Parts: sequence; C-alpha cells; structure tokens
Amino acid sequence: MNVYDGQRISSMLCGRGMTQTDKLGDADLIILNTCSVREKATNKVFSELGRIRDRKKPDSLFGIIGCVAKEAGSDAFRRIPELNFVLGPQSYHKLPQILDNPDAKLLNVDLSGLEKFDELAESVNAEPLAYIPIQEGCDHCCTYCIVPYTRGRELSRTFEDVVRDVHKAAANGATEICFLGQNVNGYKFSLADLIRETAKIDSIKRIRYTSSYPTEMTDDLIQLHGTEPKLLPFLNLPAQSGSPNVLKRMNRPYSLELYNEIIDKLRKVNPDIQISSDFIVGFPGETEEDFEMTCELARRIKYINSYSFKYSPRPHTAAALFTDQIPENIKKQRLVILDEILTQTNREFNESCVGRTMECLLEGPDKTGKHMIYRTPYMQQVIVEASPFAPEPPPGRAIKAPSAPPLEGGESSTGVSEPNNCAPDLRHDPPPSRGGADGAFIARPGGGSGASMTLQTIRITSANKCSLRGEFV
Ligand code: SF4
Repeated sequence: MNVYDGQRISSMLCGRGMTQTDKLGDADLIILNTCSVREKATNKVFSELGRIRDRKKPDSLFGIIGCVAKEAGSDAFRRIPELNFVLGPQSYHKLPQILDNPDAKLLNVDLSGLEKFDELAESVNAEPLAYIPIQEGCDHCCTYCIVPYTRGRELSRTFEDVVRDVHKAAANGATEICFLGQNVNGYKFSLADLIRETAKIDSIKRIRYTSSYPTEMTDDLIQLHGTEPKLLPFLNLPAQSGSPNVLKRMNRPYSLELYNEIIDKLRKVNPDIQISSDFIVGFPGETEEDFEMTCELARRIKYINSYSFKYSPRPHTAAALFTDQIPENIKKQRLVILDEILTQTNREFNESCVGRTMECLLEGPDKTGKHMIYRTPYMQQVIVEASPFAPEPPPGRAIKAPSAPPLEGGESSTGVSEPNNCAPDLRHDPPPSRGGADGAFIARPGGGSGASMTLQTIRITSANKCSLRGEFV
C-alpha cells in the first residue's frame, strides 16, 4: 500500500509540474512516506528527518506522510520543529495545501475514509504493474497490529470505482493488476467478481491480490484460482504462527485445521499454486513448543517468498501490554531458525524452476543497466542480460539488483523485494521501502513520463536461494 501511496503522491505532484530528483540538495519538497509497523522503523524516520533538515536547501519544504505521521501527530513538530507537514495515510491528498501556503504548518492525521481516492490525481505514469487499492483499514484487530489505529476501520471502495481504475490502468499500459488492501479478500463487494471483471480486459494478462486473511478465503475465490488463467499461481496467506495458543493470543481466531484446509483446497484446484506467508516469532508467551509448531507448519507447507519478523511491541496495541514478553536474544535465535527453514524451501522451489519457461513481467533495468529485472508468475525476480531486443524500460527507473540480503534487524525475507501493504500480514513495504520511509524528492520545473509494458517469455537458467537468472526465448 505504501508503494501505491508513493505512486499517487508522485503523480499528484507531477501533475502540478514538479518532477522527481534523487538529489536532496536540489529538492524543493521532500517527503518521507512512512511505515510504522515496527518500532525500529519509527525511530529511523525521525533520525532520517533530522538528517534531511541538516542537508536540505534552506527554503525547501519537508515533512512526513503515512503511518508514522498518524502515530506521531503533532508530537512530530515538537521533535522536529522545522517540519512543514505531517499527514496521515488517509490525508496525503491534502499535500498541495502546503505548496499553496508554504509558511503554514500542515497537520492532518484524520481517518477520512475513502475521500482520498476521489481527490487524487489519476496516475500519469504508465507502468506494466498497476496497484489498485480496493479497501483500506482493518477490523480484525490482531493484538500486535497497529494498522487498525493508523489506517482505521475497514472500508471498501465501490465496485464501479475500482473497475473504473482498472480500465484507466489498462489504458495507461498496465499488463498486471494487483489489488491491494489491508484485508483485501474481505472486500465487501466480492473480490472474486472483481477479478472476473478485470480478466475480461484483453490487455490485462496477470491479476493478483494482497494481503489476504485466512478466514476471508471464500470457496468462490478459491475456485477462481483453478478456473481463471489470468489469476497468478501465487498467494500470500499469512499464518503468523503455527501454534493455536499463540494465534488465540494474537486474536487470530482460526484453527490450523482450517488454514491447512484452505491450502489443500487451493492446491486441489490449482496444483501449480505457491503460497507465501508472514510469521512473527517471539510473540509474548510463545514457548519453545509453540515455536516448534510454527517451524513444523513452515516445513509442511513449503512456503516461498515469505517474511519473518521478531515481535516488537507497538503503541496502541493490546499485546504491548502483555507481561510475558520474550527476551530479545530468544527472539533473535528463533528468527534465525525459522529463516533457515524458509530459505531452504525457497531455494528448493527456485532450483525446481531451472529449465522452465515462464511469462515474466518487466520491472526495469538494474542499477548497472546491464541487466533487466523481470518477475515470474510466482513473484520471483529474474535477472536477464539486457538485450537490444528487450523492451525499453520506463525512463528514469532503476531497480536494485535482487541480491535479497537479510533485512535489517528483526526481520528476514526469503523472497524478493515485492511491494506489500502494511503490518505483519499486511505485507509491509519491502526493501528499499521496507522498515522506515521512502524519500520522494521533487524539484521544479519539469515533468514527463514514459512507459513500456511487456511480458517476455524467459527460460530460467540458474537459481539461488533468493533469485533466478534467465534468458529470453
Ligand atoms: S495484522 Fe492484518 S489482519 Fe491483523 S489487524 Fe493488522 S491488518 Fe488486520
């Protein structure tokens, strides 16, 4: 969701004649688009704001947007008095107000519902992959999660509004649609119907959705994974823990039997489907036995592209008040153990892909410009030698090579840098945007966008634990 928010902010500002720069000293406006899912991320945002304050142009405007802004509110101005704006995740469409009145202090962290979707400018960038939010907020109230506080109660956009956005994205050149929501399959106007409607558009070749909640997987949606060829054979279905006791204390009231049954049904209708998950280790009260149940679940399901996190107490959450917090060293040990299991299953799956030919979606060039990055139907990144026959990437985009290092302190990824939504199972934003803030530095004047969109047939030639290499067929 943060990636989507960043794109919308960028579009809104480009629509006002601004353009992006990666040089802090050139920027007239500096925005940190933030995620507060972990405590460390929040601390990083404020140290980054201090760094920006000391290095930016004296007259440039700077501020924060997103969940850290919502969490900090007016206190952000106390911590960094030079800040110009603090806008919550549902208020960032108000950003132009600060451009019109640069001497003001703009604070808005209201949970204003779906208003922002109506007010935001249409995307001006043509990208092969279009993120389309269909709902926002969450009513599940997991005891560790700050999302219900920062993003508010669950609200679904109308079916007509979403379909209109899908058609716009297709007209702008999107090949893949990713429906977004903190509880995306809880979309109240039927995610399955939305997928069917989207699949009717010829130029849309791939459809997916994230992030899902287990009990919202309806039979209709599960069946669609077997019947709709445009729906990718990959699903993020966060388990968080394999222990019934821990799930109960997390306020995730589903049984492991139900979770396994959903996966069995998905694999029955589509034997090719791959599942990813998010896990929290070291949740308050988690025993060795509980943790072993999580490891057992991970071994049994053989997840790919999963994320594991050390539990960190967040303000406004019930679990932060639990008295049986787990010592940091135990959390670290458990994270290492689980990560080894997840890495192993990821490596095995990657290696099983060698020799296969897949339709992969262009992401763009790597930093060197010598390679192109594509994404398989299972969300693995594939590195391909740049070729004169390969399609041109959208200008100005450079994608970090997917070396997939372990994520900083307290989280691990066996997968790739894939935009996610939010808190633990909301698929918080990945590197480079995971765990802190995105910088968007916009300088006047300028503009322009360009695009290329394509699917390429790629043969996988080699694999390691976190990425693939391939060649055009
Ligand atoms: S973890 Fe996911 S399902 Fe639970 S409250 Fe947060 S957003 Fe909702």
